[in-house]
Amino acid sequence: MATFSYHRAASLDDAAGRLAEPGAVAIGGGTDLLPAIDEGLASPAVVVDLRGIPNGDAITTGADGSLRIGAAASLHDVAAHPAVRERWPALAQACDAVGTPTLRHMGTIGGNLCQRPRCWYFRQGVSCYKSGGDACPAEHGENQYHAIVNGGPCHAVHPSDPAVALLALDASVEIASRGETRTVPVDEFFVLPSQRLDRETVLGAGAFVSAVLLPAQSAGGVQFYHKLMQREAWDFALVSLAGARRESGEVRLAMGGVAPAPWRVNSSVEEDVASGGLDDDSIASLAERALYDVEPLSKNGYKVQMASSLLRQAMRQLAG
Ligand SMILES: Cc1cc2nc3c(=O)[nH]c(=O)nc-3n(C[C@H](O)[C@H](O)[C@H](O)COP(=O)(O)OP(=O)(O)OC[C@H]3O[C@@H](n4cnc5c(N)ncnc54)[C@H](O)[C@@H]3O)c2cc1C
Repeated sequence: MATFSYHRAASLDDAAGRLAEPGAVAIGGGTDLLPAIDEGLASPAVVVDLRGIPNGDAITTGADGSLRIGAAASLHDVAAHPAVRERWPALAQACDAVGTPTLRHMGTIGGNLCQRPRCWYFRQGVSCYKSGGDACPAEHGENQYHAIVNGGPCHAVHPSDPAVALLALDASVEIASRGETRTVPVDEFFVLPSQRLDRETVLGAGAFVSAVLLPAQSAGGVQFYHKLMQREAWDFALVSLAGARRESGEVRLAMGGVAPAPWRVNSSVEEDVASGGLDDDSIASLAERALYDVEPLSKNGYKVQMASSLLRQAMRQLAG
């Protein structure tokens, strides 16, 4: 049985100080970390509980109309927050789409963005790139649930629903570490396996997510999150899509379940959707263009059909 000590952070500085120690790991709700420890995928010396940070779960509106969501806010509280429901409904829907009510009450937004991939080879201790091996067993194996774009050398997809909505909403992630706080856009927060294999985000040793920031510009307009699952209850996305048409007319399309990081559709396709006046034929050809770069593996070609279907549905909703 794994042994580790537990420290409840008393402040942001305290968390940053403890997380700078060797073997220290952040914990939010523990819904992913504790199973990962059990599965031998993590072996921390100390877990630093970020839920002890005063107001670490606060959701606050800024004077400029932006929203700051403390990393320790539960997915339930994010989904239920009136400002999120009214002004960024794609995020509320994505948080509501996560797992079960229990998971949404325990899981935090910070932990959700930093959860590890669900690839069954990785999770079951089969040697793979992510576990330090020199091959991806999914590449020529059971790859039904794996990436159709941006995969390789590892083909696991990113499992987060909220991350997809945050990408479509041009959100940023606030990252804290000892003596420093910085902000990175969501599309720079996640890294691909071609960039690094040992983790899925830019977080370096000792760094942690302290908040998620939503800009006022992405509030309102038309927005939604659609998720296709194998089962209609507490399952990860096979393919998902967050769509937004801002009041300025700009369009964003982001997809989940298709790539090792939340995947944004080519901006030229978004611009053509924004220009409106689309009939069924032009929507079909735009969906084809959006998926031009996809390269399905031997058993996940069905995801291309799903992605195309979600894209066409979203384009009809957004084309005005
Ligand atoms: C049965 C099941 C079904 C699920 N279904 C879905 C689903 O449909 N959609 C979906 O999106 N997710 C799903 N999940 C994942 C679930 O949402 C995550 O487990 C949860 O959001 C993680 O949040 P947490 O606070 O419990 O993270 P933790 O378990 O505490 O942490 C997860 C990871 O993030 C790190 N971490 C935690 N907080 C921070 C932080 N602030 N900064 C840096 N690193 C941090 C930890 O070190 C750990 O590596 C499911 C999980 C299970 C078990």
